[in-house]
Amino acid sequence: NGEEIVLNEDVKPPPLAGANVMNIILVAAECAPWSKTGGLGDVAGALPKALARRGHRVMVVAPRYGNYAEPQETGVRKRYKVDGQDVEVTYFQTYIDGVDFVFIDSHMFRHMENNIYGGNRVDILKRMVLFCKAAIEVPWYVPCGGTCYGDGNLVFIANDWHTALLPVFLKAYYHDNGLMKYTRCILVIHNIAHQGRGPVDDFLYVDLPQHYIDIFKLCDPVGGEHFNIFAAGLKMADRVVTVSHGYAWELKTSEGGWGLDGIINENNWKLKGIVNGIDTKEWSPQFDFHLTSDGYTNYSLETLQIGKPQCKAALQKELGLPVRENVPLIGFIGRLDHQKGVDLIAEAIPWMVDQDVQLVMLGTGRPDLEQLLRQFESQHRDKVRGWVGFSVKVAHRITAGADILLMPSRFEPCGLNQLYAMSYGTVPVVHAVGGLRDTVHPFDPFNESGLGWTFDKAETNRLIHALGNCLLTYREYRNSWEGIQRRGMMQDLSWDNAAQNYEEVLVTAKYQW
Ligand code: ADP
Repeated sequence: NGEEIVLNEDVKPPPLAGANVMNIILVAAECAPWSKTGGLGDVAGALPKALARRGHRVMVVAPRYGNYAEPQETGVRKRYKVDGQDVEVTYFQTYIDGVDFVFIDSHMFRHMENNIYGGNRVDILKRMVLFCKAAIEVPWYVPCGGTCYGDGNLVFIANDWHTALLPVFLKAYYHDNGLMKYTRCILVIHNIAHQGRGPVDDFLYVDLPQHYIDIFKLCDPVGGEHFNIFAAGLKMADRVVTVSHGYAWELKTSEGGWGLDGIINENNWKLKGIVNGIDTKEWSPQFDFHLTSDGYTNYSLETLQIGKPQCKAALQKELGLPVRENVPLIGFIGRLDHQKGVDLIAEAIPWMVDQDVQLVMLGTGRPDLEQLLRQFESQHRDKVRGWVGFSVKVAHRITAGADILLMPSRFEPCGLNQLYAMSYGTVPVVHAVGGLRDTVHPFDPFNESGLGWTFDKAETNRLIHALGNCLLTYREYRNSWEGIQRRGMMQDLSWDNAAQNYEEVLVTAKYQW
């Protein structure tokens, strides 16, 4: 009848899971935007929404570290034993974008928002014991939209060592007693470097029948053995996912498995690599809330050539750097530790400051590396900014305003910043490892293909070589540069593909018996 068809971006696609609709509960120690120290928080905030869009009933359970605005107290109270003490927990709940978010409140989590993994080994272990014990019973006791999930058609997604006790508890407390018979648990490895290690006596804190002790024991290369929570979780989980194909492969090697490669190889049949997506509501140059003030602007593929230079100028102005359109602005965002290769950037600084470039680094972490950032800035005030702190706003603004993003990580399970960068037309220069190798295809000038620059060893001279080629293209071959930017922005990096892959793993876990 001649009426114009209006495409509403908010209309959700129909449920796609069909006969496989499940109740899914993702349990994580952090969940953006309420709590986040790194990629795990981003994944916990975004993957569940994509699973819900596929038609599943989906919940996230996380600790309540602070007074969050949306979640309301449910009135449900429970007590769980931790190190011989009865600890009371209450549950807060909210429903956003099709997902139930449940937060577990206890004096053990309160006021930890800036220190999620703080305290000594035993403190954090006790917090995670409480968290896993309380999380597992959420589907029994916490009503969401009036009804509890129940345990009939349920799969848990546990994440990293912090919640690797969940599949162990599921078996020992429930399956072994004929309870939660049809509930399954998959375990996602976001970073194998942290494992919940301790002396074998730590077994006392996990409060399990004595015959479970062996699954926690891991031999040390120098003789002796230790207690290892990730090891137990990997053995007990129904399926194991890790956050890229490259990392799935690396985990099976003695260098990349950090002592767990033997167990991962034995359980290889359970393992699948699924590259993380990005939350396109939070990370899109077109809708980014952090680009709506202070001279920044939203932009898209169509307005890249106007919008991005405007963001660059705003960033230079905000950071007090000379406002110059044609100087390449190089960014780094991330935890300051050995993993992220900050020391390689440090070694490359003398070379970099000899070039006509600007460098902006944002991060927190090891005190000596934080000091290094401050030192770079004070020694090269006209070229370098070292912002020590955790600021989501500044991270978004660097992603939009920089031309180049450096990620010289020694290992990188997936890496999200390179994905954010590409979707903002910012060109990544990365060490080709783990998820970085999966996602940043090297630029090929002969075919005008590729998304950035890679180097194949975490060494300073390789970083300099790759960055040098990148700078040359930025300066001399503007058409190629724009092609790289555009290809990066045109990718579908949303969670929808990854969610479908997760669904396949969840379904096989569910129907394996
Ligand atoms: P990891 O999980 O190993 O820290 P990822 O690249 O997977 O690394 O995810 C890091 C996430 O944390 C990204 O969203 C990144 O923007 C964010 N991030 C890291 N450091 C900071 C910081 N100092 N300020 C703001 N955001 C940060």
